[in-house]
Amino acid sequence: MEEILGSKELEDLYFMKAFSRDLKIVKGSGSYVWDEKGNKYLDLVAGIAVCSTGHCHPDVVKAICSQAKELIHISNLFYVPNQGELAKKMVEISCIPEGKAFFSNSGAEANDGAIKLARIRTGRKNFVAFVNGFHGRTMGSLAVTHKPAIREPFGPLEPKCTFVEYGNLEDLSGAVDENTAAVIVEGIQGEAGVIPAPEGFYEGIRKICDEKGALMICDEVQTGMGRTGNWFYYQSTGVKPDIVSIAKGIASGLPMGAIVARKGLTFNPGEHGSTFAGGPLVCAGALATIGVIEKNLKDVPKKGKIIMDGLKEYSPRGMGLIIGVPAGEERCAKIASICREKGVLVNCASHGTIRLVPPLTITEGELKEGVSVIKEAFDATA
Ligand SMILES: *Cc1c(COP(=O)(O)O)cnc(C)c1O
Repeated sequence: MEEILGSKELEDLYFMKAFSRDLKIVKGSGSYVWDEKGNKYLDLVAGIAVCSTGHCHPDVVKAICSQAKELIHISNLFYVPNQGELAKKMVEISCIPEGKAFFSNSGAEANDGAIKLARIRTGRKNFVAFVNGFHGRTMGSLAVTHKPAIREPFGPLEPKCTFVEYGNLEDLSGAVDENTAAVIVEGIQGEAGVIPAPEGFYEGIRKICDEKGALMICDEVQTGMGRTGNWFYYQSTGVKPDIVSIAKGIASGLPMGAIVARKGLTFNPGEHGSTFAGGPLVCAGALATIGVIEKNLKDVPKKGKIIMDGLKEYSPRGMGLIIGVPAGEERCAKIASICREKGVLVNCASHGTIRLVPPLTITEGELKEGVSVIKEAFDATA
């Protein structure tokens, strides 16, 4: 008790109140976490789609610990251990022909990199993004993020961005012109409440971009790294992006992001960089993470189906292990709180949606356990 009081008081006094929270988690292993009182929870949030390999996966821990003993940081003045190996792996799993990778420290920064790359290589200034889309909170990524409540207080924002209704190809066609550097899109709008792209949407975007000479940036920060059952969402469509941005699930919780861009889209010396990004430690963590995901990838659709079938009567939507269950604003918080009391962590995304983004390593038994608790919570609030 003293510990949590102390912790909360310290936070109130010294930490900016940008988040509201009341639970302190101190330990994690596999699909479970423990709070400071020793209560155990099945974690269906996984650090918001970050802990793709579960908590403290032994392969990841081992890779981080051994690299930490060799070299933690060296700067971009030198070749960086693990960076080339990881870049090769990223190009391979993204299936972008003759692609090249670049690393960042977060999803927002990955999108900033994509925005800069699109501007400098197309010579065009403007962007088109979608209503309810989320791309991050740095000034650049915020400019292409739709939600007025989080963007408007920080204007004026650059680059100039036009927002089009998600799924509406006719409006998109009208919005993309000869000044459009790129269209940026999520295959499933995660923060918005797990809204999947309608059938044919990606193919339509690709066509419009090609006709107008604009690039297509696929923001796979939340949907990527195996979450949908493919390495990337766009691999379930017939479409390849010019640039894909990646983060959340890439390194099991180490701060990291990446872009992979097709042939001809590359930064030249001096055009972009970051002191920390793609360092030896995070690259080691990412390589180990990819190894674990490789072993689990083929089971992701089957695991997703357990959630979809189990919660069928509540109209779940999504793909693989990114699933949203509409609950309504007020009910969503109630359901999340009941689930927590019963030892299951779920999260409320926008529009009153219960968001389920568990570790890709979760077992079928654990999923069934989670689903039955969520069901109870839905029924208790009916
Ligand atoms: C979380 C998220 C981001 C931002 O990533 P950060 O690491 O928080 O900067 C960008 N795009 C999408 C689709 C996301 O889900």
